[in-house]
Amino acid sequence: MNMPLPSATSTLDFTPAVGDMPFTPLQRELLSTAHRLGRDNFAARAAQWDREASFPFANYDDLREAGFLKLCVPTAHGGLGADYPTYMMVAAEIGRFCGATALTWNMHICSTMWTGVLADGIPMTDEQRSEHAARRELHFGRIVNDGALYAQPFSEGTAAAAGRAPFGTSAKKVDGGWLINGRKIWASLSGAADYYGILCTEDKGDDHPDARDTLYISVPATAEGLSISGDWDPMGMRGTVSRNLTFKDVFVTDAEQLMPRGIYFKGAQTWPAMFFTLAPTYLGLANAAYDFTVKYLRGEVEGEPPVQRRQYPTKQIAVAQMRIQLESMKSLFTRAITEARPNPTKDQKLRLYAAHHSVMEGANDIARLAIRTCGGQSMLKHLPLERLYRDSRCGALMLPWTAELIVDRMGRETLYEAGEQ
Ligand SMILES: Cc1cc2nc3c(=O)[nH]c(=O)nc-3n(C[C@H](O)[C@H](O)[C@H](O)COP(=O)(O)OP(=O)(O)OC[C@H]3O[C@@H](n4cnc5c(N)ncnc54)[C@H](O)[C@@H]3O)c2cc1C
Repeated sequence: MNMPLPSATSTLDFTPAVGDMPFTPLQRELLSTAHRLGRDNFAARAAQWDREASFPFANYDDLREAGFLKLCVPTAHGGLGADYPTYMMVAAEIGRFCGATALTWNMHICSTMWTGVLADGIPMTDEQRSEHAARRELHFGRIVNDGALYAQPFSEGTAAAAGRAPFGTSAKKVDGGWLINGRKIWASLSGAADYYGILCTEDKGDDHPDARDTLYISVPATAEGLSISGDWDPMGMRGTVSRNLTFKDVFVTDAEQLMPRGIYFKGAQTWPAMFFTLAPTYLGLANAAYDFTVKYLRGEVEGEPPVQRRQYPTKQIAVAQMRIQLESMKSLFTRAITEARPNPTKDQKLRLYAAHHSVMEGANDIARLAIRTCGGQSMLKHLPLERLYRDSRCGALMLPWTAELIVDRMGRETLYEAGEQ
């Protein structure tokens, strides 16, 4: 008699960064692959990208081979069909082993999730729906058939990325397509992406740019008039290679429009959880700092002398504090990803903000405690902790939901109902 073989879809032999919860068979399978890739390949390479401030191309070869570039492309289009919560769990697992890979992978995945599962939840007219269906076919095909990589440069150094002003980069309608002019900063995957999915404002020729006219358009890396500039030597997340892009009369065809006119603006209002996708990277980093601390205090870090430090009550208290904070981050995170949906209730939205703030600030808190607890030798460069500390500092700075802006939103949206002044 054939006994069913134990497989990744029935058991997990590790605790995922997101914690234990009832996973679907697809979630178990994807988490197992992410964990294996991270543990066996990404962890050992992470120091190299950090030292060189270079893009993790080798990790992307692995992600491509595992089908992870098409993770959120619907199965009907040849993808793996992962939904929002599934992506968020898998991303946290990758972040546990390489923050820069997880963060850049998020930029790519968003180009498929926004046009896929999120767009399906945004109201559109029949005409817009069929326009979108035709265009995303091309976009998904590039990823599924050619393994194309997408970046997501929005930031401009103005109030636009915070959602408080129209984007300064403009797109003017011309015969057969769009003419793009402007500049983006902090474009992760600069020089590595095949396409840059930019947000820009439709130039209607009336000198009144309006955020409702935001367009989401992909610009091929080979487009004439697109250039990359600027030094890249940041404190953390050095493997993201987030340089500046300049667009000078860049022509792209109509087919490059990733969403119909006006739909991005509606999407940002309908689906606030779309901005929470930056958080799993940092939940992964928090797990890594905690895991390292436990191993280090037990004298079990490979290549290090087996000195045990766990007998000191202060170490035990610190580990307990770290675990309490990590558990609370995981609980808020899992609650937020399971209730992510279009048009969340006010309570769901406030919880989402709380989850984001807790993960983005908490990741660096845990890394800080880890260094304090493990001590001076633990911050030497041959160990991962000082990199985790630097990488984890970046989360709370990312727009549109920096830690400051989240607090600002939470306070205002708690005390004022929609429409109240
Ligand atoms: C590792 C890393 C990778 C990144 N990758 C990308 C990417 O791929 N694509 C991309 O588009 N961006 C990316 N960013 C940029 C990021 O999202 C922010 O745009 C950037 O960190 C903002 O920095 P700034 O100094 O320009 O912020 P500023 O706009 O100068 O703001 C400074 C601070 O002021 C506060 N603030 C800003 N606006 C307001 C306001 N209206 N009201 C009140 N307070 C405000 C915020 O807390 C903010 O942190 C990345 C950033 C990092 C750190």
